[in-house]
Amino acid sequence: MKVFKFGGASVKDAAAVKNVAEIVKTQGGDKLIVVVSAMGKTTNALETIIAKYRDEKDFKDELLELKRFHKQVVEELFGALHQGINKALTNLFQELDNQLAKAKTDVFEYDYDQIIGFGELLSAQILKHYLLEDGIDASFLDARKTIRTNHNYKSAEVDWQQTTHLLHRAIENKPNRVYVLQGFVGHTPENQSTSLGREGSDFTAAIAAYCLGAESVTIWKDVPGMLNADPKWFDDTIRIPKLSYKEAVELSYYGATIIHPKTVKPLQNKNIPLYVKSFMNATAEGTVIQADSAEDGLIPSFIFKINQVLISIHPLDFSFIVEENLRDIFDVFAGHGIKINLMQMSALSFSVCIDEDYKLPALLKDLQQHYKILYNTKQELVTIRHYKQETIDRVVVNKKIMLEQRTRQTIRIVMQDLA
Ligand code: ASP
Ligand code: MG
Repeated sequence: MKVFKFGGASVKDAAAVKNVAEIVKTQGGDKLIVVVSAMGKTTNALETIIAKYRDEKDFKDELLELKRFHKQVVEELFGALHQGINKALTNLFQELDNQLAKAKTDVFEYDYDQIIGFGELLSAQILKHYLLEDGIDASFLDARKTIRTNHNYKSAEVDWQQTTHLLHRAIENKPNRVYVLQGFVGHTPENQSTSLGREGSDFTAAIAAYCLGAESVTIWKDVPGMLNADPKWFDDTIRIPKLSYKEAVELSYYGATIIHPKTVKPLQNKNIPLYVKSFMNATAEGTVIQADSAEDGLIPSFIFKINQVLISIHPLDFSFIVEENLRDIFDVFAGHGIKINLMQMSALSFSVCIDEDYKLPALLKDLQQHYKILYNTKQELVTIRHYKQETIDRVVVNKKIMLEQRTRQTIRIVMQDLA
C-alpha cells in the first residue's frame, strides 16, 4: 500500500483534479490511500467565514462564493447532470448551513473545528466521484471516523492506537483499490470534529502510512522536489535528490515550509520513505527522504524568515543574566504562546528573535515590567545548512548583520537591509 498526498494547489480547479486522477491511475499501484486538502484557498475562505460567524457579522457573500466555486468545478468535471456528486454537494452545503445557523459556543477553537473541515469534505467527495467516473475503484475514507484525536481543538493530538484500529477496520470493511481520505481533519471519541493545525494534511498522510504500515508516502507539489531554497527568495535553486529524516527535520525546524514539521517522525519510526514530487511532472525523480543518506550536506540549503523582531532583554539594575531571569523570561514567552526562533545570552542581556505579529505589544509590555527592553523590527533571519564562506557572502550583500551564530553545520544570521 502507498499513500499519496495532494495539497490545495494540486486540486485547485477542474483541470488539476483531472491531473490527480491521471497520477492515481498511473502511479498509484494496487492499493492506495489518497489524502487530499481543501481546493485552492478554501481553508482561508472558511477561516474568514468562521471569524465573521464568531463576530456575528454577515458572511453570506463569502459562503455563496465558496459554494459557487465548488459547483463550477463540479460542472466542469461532470457536466450539470451527474446525480451522485450533485447529491453529495447539496448534502454538504446543507450540513455547512446548519452548522453556521447554530449559536456559537464559548470555545472558539471548538466552533472552528466544526466548520473548518468542510473544505476537505468537499474536495474528497469531488475527487472520489471523479475517480469513479474515470473508472478507478475508489471509496471515501472519512477522517471523522478514522483519525482519532484528543479534545485539543485546532491542534488536536492523535490517538495512534485507536487510529490504527479504526483505519484497519474501515479498509477491511470496504475492499477498494483507492481510498480518499480528508487531510487535516480528525475526531474525538465523542465524534466531534477536530483539526490538526494549518497545513496539517501532510501529517495526515504520515499518520495513515504509519498506522497502516504503508510502503511509502508521496507528497505531490508544484515544485520538482525539496529545493535548497524557496524560489520566492532565490533565483537559482537546486533540487535535493536525497536527504535523511534527520536533515529533513533540521530544515523544517529552521523554517523550510515544504513539509509540515510533524510529518517526518511517524515515517522515521517505521522507516517509511517520503517522496516529494511534482504533480506537473509525475515521473520525474523528485526528492526522497529516508534513513541516513550519504548525500546529506552536499548541497547547502538556505532558509529565510522575514518580518522578524530582535529583542534584547536587560536586567534593570545592571546585574548579570542568571538562571532565575531565564526562567522568568521563558515563562513570559510561553504565556503569550510565542515561539522563539533564535536566542543568545551575554553577561548583561538576553537576545531573542521572534516573528513580528499582533502578540508583540503585549509581550513587550509584560517584559518591561521587570527588564529594560530594546528591540528592532524589520529584521531577517537567514539559516544556512552546510554553509561555505561564499554562501554567506551571497546572503549578506547590502545587509547589516545584527547577530550571528555558527555551529559546524549551520550558520544563522539576523540582519537588516542597509537601504
Ligand atoms: N487545508 C488545510 C490548510 O490549508 C490543510 C492543508 O492544506 O494541509 O491548512
Ligand atoms: Mg496546503
